[in-house]
Amino acid sequence: MPVIIKTQEEIEILREGGKHLAEVLYKVKEKVVPGISTKELDLYAEKLIHEMGDTPAFLNYRPAGAKFPFPASLCVSVNDEVVHGIPNKKRIFKEGDIVSLDLGLKHKGLFTDMAITVPIGKVSIESQKLMEVTERALQVGIDAAQAGNTVGDIGYAVESFVRSQGKYGIVEVLSGHGVGRAIHEDPYIPNFGKAGKGEKLVAGMVVAIEPMLNNGAKNVTIDEDGYTFRTADGKNSAHFEHTILITETEAKILTQTFS
Ligand code: MG
Repeated sequence: MPVIIKTQEEIEILREGGKHLAEVLYKVKEKVVPGISTKELDLYAEKLIHEMGDTPAFLNYRPAGAKFPFPASLCVSVNDEVVHGIPNKKRIFKEGDIVSLDLGLKHKGLFTDMAITVPIGKVSIESQKLMEVTERALQVGIDAAQAGNTVGDIGYAVESFVRSQGKYGIVEVLSGHGVGRAIHEDPYIPNFGKAGKGEKLVAGMVVAIEPMLNNGAKNVTIDEDGYTFRTADGKNSAHFEHTILITETEAKILTQTFS
């Protein structure tokens, strides 16, 4: 499928939607405290999205091959869960957990996508460092995302940075992606790669960059539910994501609370 270049009108809508999404996700983040369930957090995110006049992107989304549509608005992935954790009223946060929150919304017909990983109370030094390296890896990927570069340049930048930080497993079976008219569009943007390879980045492309790093091996497994990815070795994992606009100069983050 050809890469989609967004019109100026679409970019304005995506900017508004991205602002809404960041506002919602940062409010949800404030609720991540010991004693509340992953389902409570999901219902809160859903309520905030509706208050914005928007629609949750993941609720009832059915990826190819899935046994059932995703039953929630927010993906909540705790500790060794990498992504796509399904909220559950019996799953209660506790001190020391790290929690990845992945949320998408549809605003005036167009999609944006964002993720953060947050600590609950005091977490281990290893978990703290994992989150910091993953968030910095996202920024390194964004810095490499400018017109004239390629998808491989983003992956190469992320991978080189991560390798320089220690022994982290870069999840390879999941990747960033184009986003806007659909929640997943071409091109796919792996968090590893060769400089200069892959699709060329063109001004007007809107993409989600989303490194997922494990505090151990890169290998992941998928649960019986068909959604929850977790590390094969049981080590913790972190995930950060922004939706960005490619321009001739530096990429612009669309999922932020100011613009
Ligand atoms: Mg995404």
